[in-house]
Amino acid sequence: MSHTILIVEDEADIADVTQVYLQAQGLNTHWFNQGLNVVEWVKQHEPSVIILDLMLPGKDGVSICQEIRQFSDVPIIMTTAKVQEVDRLIGLDAGADDYVCKPFSTKELVARVNAMLRRIDRQVIKSAPALQLVEGSYTVMYQGQRVELTQIEFNLFQLLYTHPGRIYSRGQILDLVYSDFREVSDRTVDSHIRNLRKKLSQLSLPNDPIRSVYGAGYAYEMLAP
Ligand code: CA
Repeated sequence: MSHTILIVEDEADIADVTQVYLQAQGLNTHWFNQGLNVVEWVKQHEPSVIILDLMLPGKDGVSICQEIRQFSDVPIIMTTAKVQEVDRLIGLDAGADDYVCKPFSTKELVARVNAMLRRIDRQVIKSAPALQLVEGSYTVMYQGQRVELTQIEFNLFQLLYTHPGRIYSRGQILDLVYSDFREVSDRTVDSHIRNLRKKLSQLSLPNDPIRSVYGAGYAYEMLAP
């Protein structure tokens, strides 16, 4: 199956080099240099992945992303010139699957696109209740196997698990999971995620169900076995 990647980017240099790299891999590309009519095009052509710039003439990336999300789960990689924007974008719940900060290396961007394509090809199960979370005992069960978590780890995992695919920033995780702010920082979140991953790895899951989104945060994602 031949995939089409849609690039929405008003800087021609970036769009050009991105297209060259993607086409070199046998992928089809389509380029919009502004935000108007993008949503309509997506409806008609159903691209496999969208690379979407935040700041665009015509219509901005957040609006485009939100409108696409009303009818499609197509993976969207949002590009932005400001690292600081990423937290705000996640807070807005724009619905992007990944965030890349400019200036980015084209190789890196293409690697992210490929990761998205692999996930499509492996068919992401977004809502399959393969896991069982037992609240009273902070236990996670999978196909007869079980692992016990601490209360914090459990709450953290439950937050991600109940919203599959949704990216939570470290700031949001701090707000939603930790009641005592005195002892926690972004690094605390990372260390709890590390412990959580270690424990979950004792279950024979098809993949690490916690996806790190570089510079952005974490999301729950389980692939088909
Ligand atoms: Ca731009």
